[in-house]
Amino acid sequence: MKIAVIGAGAMGSLFGGLLAEAGADVWLYDIWDEHVNAINKNGLSIEREGKFRSVSVKATTDPNRIGISDLVIIFVKSTNTSQAAKTAKFLMDDSSLILTLQNGMGNADTIAETVEPSRIIAGTTSHGATMLGPGRICHAGIGPTTIGMWTDGGKDKALYIAKFFSESGIKTEFMDDIKSVIWDKLLVNVGINAITALTAIKNGQLLDLSATRDISRTAVEEAMELAREKGIHIREDAVEHVFEIAKATSPNRSSMGQDVDNKRITEIEAINGFVVREASAMGIKVPVNKTLTSLIETVQSHYE
Ligand code: NAD
Repeated sequence: MKIAVIGAGAMGSLFGGLLAEAGADVWLYDIWDEHVNAINKNGLSIEREGKFRSVSVKATTDPNRIGISDLVIIFVKSTNTSQAAKTAKFLMDDSSLILTLQNGMGNADTIAETVEPSRIIAGTTSHGATMLGPGRICHAGIGPTTIGMWTDGGKDKALYIAKFFSESGIKTEFMDDIKSVIWDKLLVNVGINAITALTAIKNGQLLDLSATRDISRTAVEEAMELAREKGIHIREDAVEHVFEIAKATSPNRSSMGQDVDNKRITEIEAINGFVVREASAMGIKVPVNKTLTSLIETVQSHYE
């Protein structure tokens, strides 16, 4: 299978690297010259539990070199999804598929503005990765990946990709109701990311004070009410689930926390900001999500 990864940062390089190791014909595409040059010169270095290995995979800053691909995987941050979808369209023909495993909500709909919706596969992954430097990533965590068709595009396409990924060593499950799966992950991000980013705490510290627990609980409950109004089947123990994840990832700084620490634009508009926009369109009040979104936007606007 010929696979193009658009956005070969931590996660794009990880998935592209794992699929290349399993024998797929993979191209990594990124706008970051130094990273692309390092991969082409020395291979992609993947660190896992203190051990390093080098994976041979093609990388480029020029999408013209890639050509039509069977599968395009989008792994840019949500702020760059629209641009990435335009590049993706250029690499697809009538039988190509496109996959997003990005965090937050709205990425698949953004892709659908450019690419035929019936070709879009969406989902979540519990793999974790961080950038160590140009050409070097850390495979920080291994967990399940879940995918399904974003619209009614015939589930055989997503089943085929789930089987292919699983055979390539990326354990992947197919789900009919993928929107619910993505919503459940959204609720976790709603309850952890902005709060930890604003308060400079690690995930586990969210549980130390009733004050932070209460903000998290209310943010998640607001988003749950929105989901119910939209007819989405979310897990009813979402608040408890958020607290379990905060505990299980106790020493970690959330991705939004890392973005704020490094003065990068966050994915707030796809997480709490998504809840605010959707709730406003439906006349539902979500004051805690609105406050969290406004505070992150304020922090971002004062980056030097
Ligand atoms: P990252 O910042 O490491 O990688 C994003 C890459 O996209 C960068 O290398 C950047 O140069 C590139 N890029 C930006 N605009 C581009 C464009 N127009 N065309 C091509 N490349 C472009 O981010 P990440 O941590 O890999 O996260 C990617 C997505 O996966 C996010 O939505 C994130 O929330 C999600 N995610 C991350 C993890 C994780 O552990 N890192 C886990 C699950 C999901």
